[in-house]
Amino acid sequence: MNSLLFKNGALLDPLQTELLTGYEVLVEGGTIKEVSDRPIKSANARVVDLGGKTIMPGLIDLHVHVVAVQFDLAGQVRLPNVFVTLKAVPIMQGMLRRGFTTVRDAGGAGFALKEAVSNGLAQGPRLFVSGRAISQTGGHGDPRARSDFLDSDAPCACCVRVGALGRVVDGVDALRAAVRQEFQMGADQIKIMASGGVASPTDPIGALGYSEDELRAVVVEARARGTYVMAHAYTAESIQRAVRCGVRTIEHGNLIDDPTAALMAKHGAYVIPTLIAFEALHHEGEKYGLSATSAAKIDTVRSAGLRSLEVYKRAGVKMGFGSDLLGEGHRLQSDEFLVRAQVLTNAEIIASATTIGAEVLGMTGKLGRLEAGAFADILVVDGNPFKDLSCLTEQGKHIRAVIKEGQLEFGDLN
Ligand code: ZN
Ligand code: ZN
Repeated sequence: MNSLLFKNGALLDPLQTELLTGYEVLVEGGTIKEVSDRPIKSANARVVDLGGKTIMPGLIDLHVHVVAVQFDLAGQVRLPNVFVTLKAVPIMQGMLRRGFTTVRDAGGAGFALKEAVSNGLAQGPRLFVSGRAISQTGGHGDPRARSDFLDSDAPCACCVRVGALGRVVDGVDALRAAVRQEFQMGADQIKIMASGGVASPTDPIGALGYSEDELRAVVVEARARGTYVMAHAYTAESIQRAVRCGVRTIEHGNLIDDPTAALMAKHGAYVIPTLIAFEALHHEGEKYGLSATSAAKIDTVRSAGLRSLEVYKRAGVKMGFGSDLLGEGHRLQSDEFLVRAQVLTNAEIIASATTIGAEVLGMTGKLGRLEAGAFADILVVDGNPFKDLSCLTEQGKHIRAVIKEGQLEFGDLN
């Protein structure tokens, strides 16, 4: 068994606000065996002298789309499956190189990609997949233009299109069947569209996605599988409805208000802000072919982004880390740290991308902290993220080693 003993480093524990010195970490196989402030004895471990560098848990991004291979999502539905799949591989590698050892895919990736990564066929972060996101007709997951009639065989509803991030389903019975189908095909959790969105052509931001009966049916089906529902939602009204119907994580949530945030806190719902996505759409969307309709919708949500973090913080709503980037924008993933740093403390932001991420995934004790029994997902970083988060940016330039489940994925241990 491959064993590693890390010495002479500073340990970043996301439950603290300062680095800890004098700790040693022993990895055996894919697991952390021991973390101690006293010297650890191991007969056969390879000793890694960290030389003062920081050792920290791998990062968790709770909102990505690894098959969003281009900005034009409606167009990519028609790309050949092989092409989309092959383009998703370097996107996943990029995430892992930036230190994200676990990601939750919010629509698009399914069992095949998850398995391909876990058995080593493709290099990437550990995936928690949603299959295809579920949207009502004319909702955020419906890429059809106004000129398209509601053909039940439209590409977006077809299960063999790898480039389709979503599928269109209406009505309680059809939704129950669709949710069961996503679980049968390997979804870890279910993603629904509970309000209008930016990148879709015919749904105003303020539109509500689904009736309450439909939302409840999806939640009941997810709970029956021992898992939960994540919902794309921007406005306070759409968030309130979703949370009352039992949705557990709200994605984006830019247009929140104080009473709605209080309701979320009461229900123990999480929010996954994705502020960098709106920066990317604002600055680069046009260049990469974002439609004029979508471009016009960005400002409403973008300008509310930073304020929303204050509202959530005030109400005590737990925030996970999300990025939600598309196509050429994936490289901006870690810049989400810097955007949030305008409002939140570095320790709060680190917790969002580690311990809170683990909590959302039901993986506390396994992910998000370096502790005995956890997966050995480890980053060796030049710098102190509690003081300056930029050491986690620039495509992993300051991350000297990325280790996932005990395997060195990038960098070196010298
Ligand atoms: Zn969304
Ligand atoms: Zn998304």
